[in-house]
Amino acid sequence: MSEHSVTVVRLDSVLSAECEEIVVGVQELLLARGVIRLNDRRDALWQPSEWKPGPAARIAAVEPVDWFDAFLDTANNGVDIPDERHAYHPVENDEAPRCPRCAAGAPTTYTHCYGDWLEEWMTAGREPLFTCDRCGWSGLVGDWTGQFSVLIGAPAVTFHNWPPLSPAFTTDIRAALGGRTGIVASHW
Ligand SMILES: [Zn+2]
Repeated sequence: MSEHSVTVVRLDSVLSAECEEIVVGVQELLLARGVIRLNDRRDALWQPSEWKPGPAARIAAVEPVDWFDAFLDTANNGVDIPDERHAYHPVENDEAPRCPRCAAGAPTTYTHCYGDWLEEWMTAGREPLFTCDRCGWSGLVGDWTGQFSVLIGAPAVTFHNWPPLSPAFTTDIRAALGGRTGIVASHW
């Protein structure tokens, strides 16, 4: 069975105390709206996440989907809100992001040096910067446009196998995470 996930991740680094506060704030936001509830039957293989869909999970979706009831029965429909840094990879969705000014694809260094800049970002915490070949715009990789490119950061919120999330809902999560944020839509 194929699976998908959507992660909203904070890109700007935070001190660990502030990180915990942000995680609690995001949890409170999602609990207050009834979008999540505590997963009282965690299982490493079946339902590994700390959170599961709450009574009002539907309000998070962009529009009503006819498979929503099936989604509620999906093996892993959990929500993770980790406070440690992770690399969020789009897996089969992987594609280079686009220039926010002229929509050209990221320069060839993005693909050719992928392993190098990714490792440096992960280990040294240095988010790479790319310059557009077409228009000369320069920006950190998280400021390029797209939802199918790897991002690294913390905290984050990952929705496993949920229906498409509404833009207003993801905007609220981004605000709760604070700083610069990005979205990674994964499929595998
Ligand atoms: Zn450009």
